[in-house]
Amino acid sequence: MGNTIHTIPLGFDNAYIVKDKGAVMIDGGDPKKGKAFLKGLVKAEIKPEEIQLIILTHGHWDHIGSAAEIKELTGAKVVMHQNEKHWLQESLKPMPPGVSTWGKISTKLFSWTIVPFVHIRPTDVDIVLEDDEFSLEQYGISGNIIYTPGHSSGSVSVLLESGEAFVGDLAMNKFPLRLSPGLPIYAEDWPKVLDSWQMLLNRGAEMIYPSPGRAFSAEIIAAALAKEARE
Ligand SMILES: [Zn+2]
Repeated sequence: MGNTIHTIPLGFDNAYIVKDKGAVMIDGGDPKKGKAFLKGLVKAEIKPEEIQLIILTHGHWDHIGSAAEIKELTGAKVVMHQNEKHWLQESLKPMPPGVSTWGKISTKLFSWTIVPFVHIRPTDVDIVLEDDEFSLEQYGISGNIIYTPGHSSGSVSVLLESGEAFVGDLAMNKFPLRLSPGLPIYAEDWPKVLDSWQMLLNRGAEMIYPSPGRAFSAEIIAAALAKEARE
């Protein structure tokens, strides 16, 4: 039996549920999205208590906003990298620096207009990741959580053995961030973004599931990396 992937929009970003012998969730969306989460579960025909892990790809507010609520609804454990766990535990809302011109403008724009009104419900992180990879085998999923810094220093991705990669904001495919799928417009460390991507491609990532927007082929990222190397 193979895995099934379910997309659940939780505000601006998608969360994903991967179900095989067990079920795990990737990312926790905007704040106050408990209802949208439950609606998505009904559509996916998954019971809340089936979900064993809530894996947060990183600590930006639009990825952790409903983690506390979803943890209550499911009883799942929250998993996060050590570098950003305090963002969820202390309701912090740092904004990433822009890379592209629009990235630089929009990060300021959002931090003035949207972010002041956001409140993240804090919760404890149950499983704290270091830089080593974390196998999902014991949760019934053939894949790993891999440390993929660059967009932020605590960014991780879930790479399934079947080639699907859930990368948080390491890729973007949604207006008004980007008009087409590709690399992020915000990053703390651009060379690390490129290194993390090279590693994911080397390890067999074929289909990319960004938090913002729809899935796309890894060939688009391979082409973007080749272009970066020429510039
Ligand atoms: Zn982010």
